[in-house]
Amino acid sequence: MTPFWHALIDFFFPPKCLFCGSSLGELPDDHPCPLCTERIKVFPHPRCPCCGLGFGDTPGEDHLCSQCLTEERYFTRARAIGPYEGLMADAIHRFKYQGASRLAKPLGTFLAEYKDPEFPFSDFDLILSVPLHPRRLRQRGFNQSLLLARCVSRTHSISLDFTTLQRTRHTEPQTQLSGSERQKNIRGAFVCDADLGGLRVAVIDDVLTTGATLDELARNLRRAGAVLIEGWVVARA
Ligand SMILES: [Zn+2]
Ligand SMILES: [Zn+2]
Repeated sequence: MTPFWHALIDFFFPPKCLFCGSSLGELPDDHPCPLCTERIKVFPHPRCPCCGLGFGDTPGEDHLCSQCLTEERYFTRARAIGPYEGLMADAIHRFKYQGASRLAKPLGTFLAEYKDPEFPFSDFDLILSVPLHPRRLRQRGFNQSLLLARCVSRTHSISLDFTTLQRTRHTEPQTQLSGSERQKNIRGAFVCDADLGGLRVAVIDDVLTTGATLDELARNLRRAGAVLIEGWVVARA
């Protein structure tokens, strides 16, 4: 797009902060406003080195959380920028459940540009999105994971693959289920029929809860030959 069209679009649709909706003035429209940038909670250390769970503000060394200590995980690591609460929860909720798919780019850019050594984007060969069952896709109209994954893929010039993983079974929403119930509910819900031999893959999604879905995906990806499997999400519930 030429600068003229950019200026015209900005005139009629002034860029707004994705979190609070305030005008961004001269800032690019992919960014949160300075006030929201201050208010967004990110996970400080200590964190669980496996699933990325933050342990609050108590200082100390990183250590495994109780779940990662007792259960074997198929994924190598999972990382979330911060907790699913406040501004972040509100933005993700609007994005996913109120059909605000225009929030995909700012949220995706927020994830793609997040500066933390534990989000080593450039070390990866392939970006994957979490497939939605066709029934869920029809209801929502878009796959939130794919829209975010596309942003990360473009920003870091890493190939995006959204066909290798497929959802073969519709699963009930997992919100009411406990960790082990989620595991049972999601088991066998995906297939992966590609050869990912030797590849380092990152799965992108909006929210990570217990990690059961990521783990089930990772089980399939490992069987397909992937050597490193990480999950990167915007927020952790
Ligand atoms: Zn704001
Ligand atoms: Zn953990």
